[in-house]
Amino acid sequence: MRLILLGPPGAGKGTQAQRLVQKYGIIQLSTGEMLRAAVASQTPVGLQAKDIMASGALVPDEIVIGIISDRLDQPDMKNGFILDGFPRTVPQAAALDELLKKKHIKLDAVVELRVNESALLDRVETRVAEMRARGEEVRIDDTPEVLSKRLANYRSLTEPLIHYYSERRKLLTVDGMMTIEHVTREINRILSAIGAVEPRAAAPARKARGAARKTAGLTGKKAAKTAKKAVKTARKATKPASRAASKAASLAKGRGTAKAKKAAKKTTSRPAKKVTKKRAKR
Ligand code: AMP
Repeated sequence: MRLILLGPPGAGKGTQAQRLVQKYGIIQLSTGEMLRAAVASQTPVGLQAKDIMASGALVPDEIVIGIISDRLDQPDMKNGFILDGFPRTVPQAAALDELLKKKHIKLDAVVELRVNESALLDRVETRVAEMRARGEEVRIDDTPEVLSKRLANYRSLTEPLIHYYSERRKLLTVDGMMTIEHVTREINRILSAIGAVEPRAAAPARKARGAARKTAGLTGKKAAKTAKKAVKTARKATKPASRAASKAASLAKGRGTAKAKKAAKKTTSRPAKKVTKKRAKR
C-alpha cells in the first residue's frame, strides 16, 4: 500500500500514520521527522533547514525531494509506505509523480484529514503538554506564533494539492474531527472500499478458494488431505466460505472433479465480494 496523508499541522497525520504502520507493516516517511533528525545530527541538510523550520516556513523543494527520492530507493520500501508531510507544494507533488513513474511505483491514494482550523491550536497545545509530560523535547515550531505561520503556509502552498489529487482521482477525504479511533476506522474502511487493502475476511477466504480449487483437480487420498486444509483455512475466514470448502472437499473426495470445481468456485468467492460491495456502498 502506498499512501499520502494530507492535512494541516495538528490534523493527526502522525498519529494515523503510526496506526497504519502497525496494521499493515508499511513504512512511515515523515519529512518533518527526517529533517528534525538531520538538524539534531547537524548534517549539511540539517544546518540548512534549522532556521527555516524554526520560523515555520517550508524548506526548499529540492531538499525534501532529494530526501524522499533517496529514501524510496531503500529496500524496506517495497512493502509500501505512507508519506506524512510530503508533498507540501504542487512542485513537490509533480516531482513525486515523476519519481514514482521512474521507479514504477503506483500510488494507491491520498488521504486528506479535514479539520476545523479553530481546533488545531488546541490540538497542538495538547501535543506539547503530552510531550512535556513524557519528558520529551518539545518542538520549537509548536508555539502559537509559529503555528499560525505554518497554517498560513498550509493554506497557500499545500491546500492546492487537494485539487491536484482530486483531479487525478486519488483523493479520499476523511473527517479528521472525529475521535482518533473513529478516524482510524474510517481510513481503514475507505482503503478497503477502493481495494487498497484486503477486507478482513477476504485473504483467508481467497486462500480457501485456492485450496478448494486445487482439491477439485485432485482425487483420492491427496484430495481429501488438501480439502481438509481448505476447510480449516476457510473456517478461520467466514462461515459460508467454510461451508463451501467443505462441500468442495466432500465432492472431491467422493465424486469426480468437475462438480467439485464448480462448487468451490461458486460458493467460496461470495463472502469476500459481499463485504467489499457493502463497504463500498457505505
Ligand atoms: P512537520 O513535522 O511535518 O510539521 O514538519 C516540520 C517542518 O519541517 C515544517 O514546518 C517545514 O519547515 C519542514 N518540512 C517538513 N516537510 C516538508 C516538506 N515536504 N516541504 C518543505 N518543508 C517541510
